[in-house]
Amino acid sequence: MRSFRTDLHIHTVLSPCGDLEMSPARIVSLAIKHGLDIIGITDHNSTKQCELVWKLGKRLGLTVIPGCEMTSREEVHCLGLFEDFDALKEFQNFLDLHLTIIPNKPSLFGYQAVVDEDDYILEEQANYLGASLDVSVEEVEQKVHELSGIFIPAHIDRPRNSLYSQLGFFPPELKVDALQISKFANEKIVREKFNINSEITLVKFSDAHYPEDLGKTYTIFEMEEPTFTEIRKALLRKDERSVRIP
Ligand SMILES: [Zn+2]
Ligand SMILES: [Zn+2]
Repeated sequence: MRSFRTDLHIHTVLSPCGDLEMSPARIVSLAIKHGLDIIGITDHNSTKQCELVWKLGKRLGLTVIPGCEMTSREEVHCLGLFEDFDALKEFQNFLDLHLTIIPNKPSLFGYQAVVDEDDYILEEQANYLGASLDVSVEEVEQKVHELSGIFIPAHIDRPRNSLYSQLGFFPPELKVDALQISKFANEKIVREKFNINSEITLVKFSDAHYPEDLGKTYTIFEMEEPTFTEIRKALLRKDERSVRIP
């Protein structure tokens, strides 16, 4: 078994709150510089920058998992990660169908740019990506799993936009592959506070919006190789795979 430094919650310049410096090329070079082995790209309610980060990562030997940070109707943030671009494309259709239409005001909400590998802007997203989807957190989870993706409620310890802050409880029907805690959270304290049983894996990711956030926060995945299948096994602690928050 090998150890992989993994951070599966990173925003690019496409997220309205993502720094303009968070271009695909910059993210890949910073991830490598800081010794990360696997990163996940999870912009708010859009997947449109994933493929380029994946391509640049592949060139330099960095594993990039395409994904998204969705905002459910209840304003719960959750991560969806996908194995391939067919699933990702289908998930993008789901996002396009369900995103509440609010025209973006860059001066107010921030820029939402899709850029190329030289950081040139290819297009700006017209609808505000920080808006919520018109579906429940359970419906989002079902869609992610229907596409064989990984579903992880985001920053569950935070007082806003988390499962517990928005719903006040863990929905019994919700099937999670893990729960993500935020960078300053303590795993043991979070487990006790929210009464999370030991069957559920906790992971810690950066939720990086700025270059300086990258590389400091990660989870160690103990598995055979840096693939989507192995990541899922590690989260579910199958076949002796596991994860560990350093
Ligand atoms: Zn979030
Ligand atoms: Zn985030």
